[in-house]
Amino acid sequence: MDLTTLTIKKAHDHLIKGDFSVRELTQAYLENIEKKNKNLNAYLEVFDDCLDQADEADKRLKNEKDNFMLGVPMAFKDNMLIKGRNVSAGSKILEGYKATYDAGVIKKLKEAGTILLGRTNMDEFAMGTSTENSAYGVTKNPHDLSRVPGGSSGGSAAALAANLTLGALGSDTGGSVRQPASFCGVVGFKPSYGRVSRSGLIAMASSLDQISPFAKTVEDAEIIYNIIKGKDPQDSTSLDIKDEIYKSKSKMKIGVPFHFINEGTEQAVLDNFNQSIKKMQDLGHEVIPITIPNIKYSLAVYYIIVPAEVSSNLARFDGVKYGLHKDGQDLLADYLLTRGEGFGKEVRRRIMLGTYVLSSGYYDAYYGKANQVKNLLKADFRKTFEEVNFVMTPTSPTVAFKIGEKASDPLALYLADIFTVPANITGLPSISIPSGFALTDGKKLPLGLQFTAPFLAESSLFEIAKQFEKLNG
Ligand code: GLN
Repeated sequence: MDLTTLTIKKAHDHLIKGDFSVRELTQAYLENIEKKNKNLNAYLEVFDDCLDQADEADKRLKNEKDNFMLGVPMAFKDNMLIKGRNVSAGSKILEGYKATYDAGVIKKLKEAGTILLGRTNMDEFAMGTSTENSAYGVTKNPHDLSRVPGGSSGGSAAALAANLTLGALGSDTGGSVRQPASFCGVVGFKPSYGRVSRSGLIAMASSLDQISPFAKTVEDAEIIYNIIKGKDPQDSTSLDIKDEIYKSKSKMKIGVPFHFINEGTEQAVLDNFNQSIKKMQDLGHEVIPITIPNIKYSLAVYYIIVPAEVSSNLARFDGVKYGLHKDGQDLLADYLLTRGEGFGKEVRRRIMLGTYVLSSGYYDAYYGKANQVKNLLKADFRKTFEEVNFVMTPTSPTVAFKIGEKASDPLALYLADIFTVPANITGLPSISIPSGFALTDGKKLPLGLQFTAPFLAESSLFEIAKQFEKLNG
């Protein structure tokens, strides 16, 4: 049996039956990493104590038969703190910095007995769509090594798709889990804002950031989510809410904002999306064209709010408190030298944009206005969900693009998030599920289908996603 092609659910069943041990399972992943990571550059570090963790988990197996995450090897985007471990956020500015505490999600997973395999590559401070903005080299897409894995959580997505882990975490601020999931052919699920603690997540844009799982199946994503969700006193935005009860209906209403999709989306993506529509109809659901008037402003709003929050969040990296330090003639020179050398181009671009949109005289025109439009978009979605149960779109307007193809064109990269960003602005739960392949240059490149549900309606989102997955499977 190939232990690295199982799902979490199946691995758990085998572990419980004693078909193999956590040590053997972990070893299988470590061997794959050894073989393949050099080419992919998915992991920045593989931890040296994986087998010790595995032995600990093996001891617990007998008494914890219902603990689905016990002994499950997982990979972590390198913006989550793991006590005593280096953390880079894909940036040179954190060079040498070690985390002093565990992120909320790490704490929960450690308690569950999950195996922490290592830290995965990412766009610097999660700003990007291709993992090309990492200070530690690009990650490659396992389906075609000349292409990007998506971003910013590209390392986690590629590691999972290449069977270098059984599950992974990323962070999704504008699509950074769903888009790489779509490019790499795995499931990526962004919970409602506040569902999962962000304590110990290196902040990018705090009003949008959400830690999110990658998995091979919807069921696996749900298993990970069930462990990491919930109130955390260390994150005041985390919610203390019971799951809403899903009222299963055989016939659901699925809204599609065609007005937003048809322009600028690759033909292969449109063809695949039309097949997905047909599949949903075959399942007995009703697909309804809808209009979301302000959705066209999503990216404009996003690229004002994000730089504004980035410029504030990243002010703390001053060469004094964390990582890299460059000596200048005085304190200001220290700051300038450290930040000039430590931050990459995209990060500096956003800090400058953010400082500008927050500056007096421009605040109302940009940041204030963006927040007003954000509220309009939220209202649009509330109204939409009075008519339909879900909104369905492709996850990305393109298949995975070539490494370097868009690297010098920030606008082209920003457009890659056009379908994912609305769920972050509105705080809604959203999932990307593999929906097939497009044959491009002789390679089969994965595509993704995205469902977005009302606030806190995670369980109905899983339900519809599972239905699609089964049909597509
Ligand atoms: N690609 C988007 C950006 O560059 C999304 C990032 C994210 O979700 N972390 O901002």
